[in-house]
Amino acid sequence: MALAAGPETQQGKLVISNLGVVLSGMLEAPILEADTIVAEHGRITAIGRRADCDTEGARVSIDAHGCALAPGLIDSHVHPVFGDWTPRQNQINWIDAFMHGGVTSMVSAGEVHLPGRPRDIVGVKALAITAQRAFSNFRPGGVKLHAGAPVIEKGMEEHDFAELAQAGVTLLGEVGLGTVKAGYEAKTMVAWARKYGMQSTIHTGGPSVPGSGYIDADTVLEADADIIGHINGGHTALPLRQIRCLCEGCSRGIEIVHNGNELAALSAFRYARELNQMQRVILGTDSPAGSGVQPLGILRMIALLSALGEAPAEIVFACATGNTARLRKLDAGIIETGRAADFVLMDRAQHSAGTDLLDSVRQGDLPGIGMVIIDGIVRCGRSRNTPPAERVPEILP
Ligand SMILES: [Zn+2]
Repeated sequence: MALAAGPETQQGKLVISNLGVVLSGMLEAPILEADTIVAEHGRITAIGRRADCDTEGARVSIDAHGCALAPGLIDSHVHPVFGDWTPRQNQINWIDAFMHGGVTSMVSAGEVHLPGRPRDIVGVKALAITAQRAFSNFRPGGVKLHAGAPVIEKGMEEHDFAELAQAGVTLLGEVGLGTVKAGYEAKTMVAWARKYGMQSTIHTGGPSVPGSGYIDADTVLEADADIIGHINGGHTALPLRQIRCLCEGCSRGIEIVHNGNELAALSAFRYARELNQMQRVILGTDSPAGSGVQPLGILRMIALLSALGEAPAEIVFACATGNTARLRKLDAGIIETGRAADFVLMDRAQHSAGTDLLDSVRQGDLPGIGMVIIDGIVRCGRSRNTPPAERVPEILP
């Protein structure tokens, strides 16, 4: 199967029928009453029972053979550089490998691994604009990588944020990875970014690698970034009482990552549930990183949080899709008409102890992916990375 590298969209109609469970990506109604989804020109146009959907004239018809469908997974925290290469662990095709793990969108938390990354203000801005352009034009495996996330440095002024926004930059990379580490300094720049429509994420916890910094709960609260980046540390976590303070003390996004502290991950997840704040929980890998690059990282987080966090799998899938889309202002992540036709089709992995897909995840197993679709285009069939799914969808001739 040819891999799309550009931002193209399926022209004409896509019909997926014979679906088993349809996960919506929405906490309030995580499972939809549907066995058919129709998309036109890369956008969802109908969801329901086959008899109620207009399935005539499909350019591509897929028989799901009873597989489950979820919105494409969103990795809220990645560190890309350029193309489908990462110098962090010197790997190529890592983004395409994530697509085989069900990830259809990624959000950059800063292009910080670029060898020789510029730290002067004009260089910081130039890199952010270049990364934003490059990943808009190039989609490894079809994955939508929202990049161009400058790491703020001392000396930046309001006009710098205005210029970045004017140039199409919509994100700030992790606050704390540059020279701005104090809460009061970060607060001013985060507010400037917000004023110009740019979203922000703050590094939380101990330094990730030599050269990065320590950010405690008081600093996170003072800076008031939109997303509490890796609340479970990346990898060194804050004391659990500080993580509790972050969940209780603000309403910002609670980002839990794969490359963090797993006890802290489960604790943050439980605090959010106790506080009835699940709509704030989003998932990321924080990769590539020192602890690696995980194509199945988001699936592993879903299985971990469902099994050990004792939450229904469909709720954790919603954290990894609709929650992230809402907090990150992406038009994917939810199965509703008008949204991007980004889907992952899955089934119980072969020989899982679980009785079906959701039960297998609840028991800690990874699902088997049978197909990934982005903007209505089939990007892969049976995943080369997940355990084999019991059933896989079929493109009808
Ligand atoms: Zn970090």
